[in-house]
Amino acid sequence: MAIVYLSLGSNLEDRVGYIQQATSLLGGTDGVTIVRTSAFYESEPVEMNSENWFVNAVVEAKTTLPPQHLLEQCQRIERQLGRKSKSGDYQDRTIDIDILLYGKEVIDTDTLTVPHNKMHQRAFALVPLLELIPDTLHPKLQKTMSDLHEELANPEIILLYGTRG
Ligand code: AMP
Repeated sequence: MAIVYLSLGSNLEDRVGYIQQATSLLGGTDGVTIVRTSAFYESEPVEMNSENWFVNAVVEAKTTLPPQHLLEQCQRIERQLGRKSKSGDYQDRTIDIDILLYGKEVIDTDTLTVPHNKMHQRAFALVPLLELIPDTLHPKLQKTMSDLHEELANPEIILLYGTRG
């Protein structure tokens, strides 16, 4: 059994609805139990040519699935919720599910990099993690989520959902 942290993001259509549906489908997946969920946030798009802000959240779950199987289940749910394309440049998406952390494991294969290779650079991943596990060490960088958040040089704007003017 591993504790995992999954980042959920949506910047198309019913963004909150997609995050809620993805959480519910994850919780209904054999071998996955949702423990708790962060608040919902809104973040400006980064590294993509879009005006559509994201809704983001992080889910803490327990799983008996090995990392690659968990990734496959995340991708199944992405397809089920109408995610069109996974490759190429960043596009608007109904749902994106990324594995941020899988226990303390460090994984580097063709299909899976854990901890997620950009999590330490992204406020939309770190801010929800600050709520859930501020003092947990990033297994590769050996810094806490709080430290990584403080070190963000040029963070994108991230607001608690519902507080964007
Ligand atoms: P994205 O468009 O951000 O969802 O990235 C999709 C690709 O990233 C997939 O083909 C995955 O195989 C790969 N990938 C590598 N590491 C991860 C991870 N930690 N979580 C999710 N996808 C990952």
